[in-house]
Amino acid sequence: MNKTLVVGAGLAGCEAAWQLAERGFLVTLTEQKPRRRTPAHKSDDFAELVCSNSLRSDRLENAVGLLKEEMRRLGSLILSCADETRVPAGGALAVDREGFAALVTRRIRGHKNIEIAEGEATCLPEAPAIIATGPLTDGPLAQDIERQLGQALHFYDAAAPIVTAESLDHSKVFAASRYGRGADYLNCPMTREEYFAFWQALVEAQTVPLAAFETPRVFEGCLPVETLAKRGEKTLAFGPLKPVGLEVDGRRPFAVVQLRRDNAPGSLYNLVGFQTNLTFPEQRRVFSMIPGLEKAEFARYGVMHRNTFLPSPQLLNHDYSLRGRQGLYFAGQLTGVEGYVESAASGLVAGLAMARYLRGQPPVDFTRQTAIGALAHYVSSGNGLDFQPMNVAFGLLEPLSGRVKNKRERNLTLAERALNIVKEKQTLMNKEDSNDIL
Ligand SMILES: Cc1cc2nc3c(=O)[nH]c(=O)nc-3n(C[C@H](O)[C@H](O)[C@H](O)COP(=O)(O)OP(=O)(O)OC[C@H]3O[C@@H](n4cnc5c(N)ncnc54)[C@H](O)[C@@H]3O)c2cc1C
Repeated sequence: MNKTLVVGAGLAGCEAAWQLAERGFLVTLTEQKPRRRTPAHKSDDFAELVCSNSLRSDRLENAVGLLKEEMRRLGSLILSCADETRVPAGGALAVDREGFAALVTRRIRGHKNIEIAEGEATCLPEAPAIIATGPLTDGPLAQDIERQLGQALHFYDAAAPIVTAESLDHSKVFAASRYGRGADYLNCPMTREEYFAFWQALVEAQTVPLAAFETPRVFEGCLPVETLAKRGEKTLAFGPLKPVGLEVDGRRPFAVVQLRRDNAPGSLYNLVGFQTNLTFPEQRRVFSMIPGLEKAEFARYGVMHRNTFLPSPQLLNHDYSLRGRQGLYFAGQLTGVEGYVESAASGLVAGLAMARYLRGQPPVDFTRQTAIGALAHYVSSGNGLDFQPMNVAFGLLEPLSGRVKNKRERNLTLAERALNIVKEKQTLMNKEDSNDIL
């Protein structure tokens, strides 16, 4: 039986290892924890969610909702564990952070075809291998990748703080989802005066100095709250603090800070959209100006971090294989996909692709008509020097041939087309696999 190597037991690495193991390949999964950790990883479990506990929208008319549904249908380990550990979050799929990672770890450790090798990989391995060491890949491995493949790029990303539920002032916060769709969020309403006082303090607050040798380039979709605030005095009130669909005594507040449940018991909440690079004392001072958070206890402070990714359009094929090096694949955030779900999706494609390569089957192409395929095509074609990490979006998918004016209907039609293609591809792959086994 073919032996394969997967480096990094994060979201992408676990998904890739699972896909290979389920197809009968023996997988060695190398993980540096607990001996060595990145600054963002805290637990000893695999598939650790390092910031938010949300896998974002679970609705089909949303691109990440479609991506998740495609992954479910393709037998994703990460989605099955997320579905089993979900916590209420309106239309989103949020999970109990520790329960989720513990379940993935149990499934991986319990698979008869997977063995765990504890330790740090220090160079690009021999094929067949998948490298899924994440956005904080550094040290000798990063140097070897840069040496062998050319300069790796980097930019910055930021994470939001988490507060304990018992430290909130429950006479001020109220439970509700927007537009009366349940009561999954805790909301901190602000008057006009409270909002402007908070805004002023935020734009003047002290941030952590960044290392002099690194120029910060922040991903537009994950801007620190203070950076967003500096764009204008009402930017937050129209952005993450928008009050739409929320009322107190029949009236809409001037602004609302939303808190999303971070674990199943509901003892921890994260501040939605509050990724930040403020110093820890400044986070305590400024965020305690939010009504209800006056005495908030921070279970985790927000942080800003380096995010390393490859110039993938110059290096990778649409199945995440490395051009010119048969049997070597990359997966996860390191390839320039952005987000938990996207990272796991690329692991799924890379694992599937490697299994097909080892069986002598042609590469799998999910095409630009599916979310999983459109993401892979973006990563492998991109736009040269300006290549930037990307969340999945309907804009990446091949447009419909006819015009559908209503956005929701258009997205649902795209989703229906995508799910049909996933089904066709899956039937074809299953047929080829059973022919090979016969
Ligand atoms: C601080 C931070 C906050 C983020 N917040 C969010 C968020 O809120 N929502 C979201 O959707 N995305 C977020 N992201 C982006 C991204 O979705 C996550 O980083 C995601 O975990 C990426 O998955 P991955 O499998 O590529 O890498 P990871 O999950 O980081 O997994 C990589 C694994 O490889 C291991 N490893 C690293 N180097 C080596 C080595 N040399 N040898 C052996 N093992 C190694 C690591 O220990 C880790 O277990 C965030 C990223 C960071 C860094």
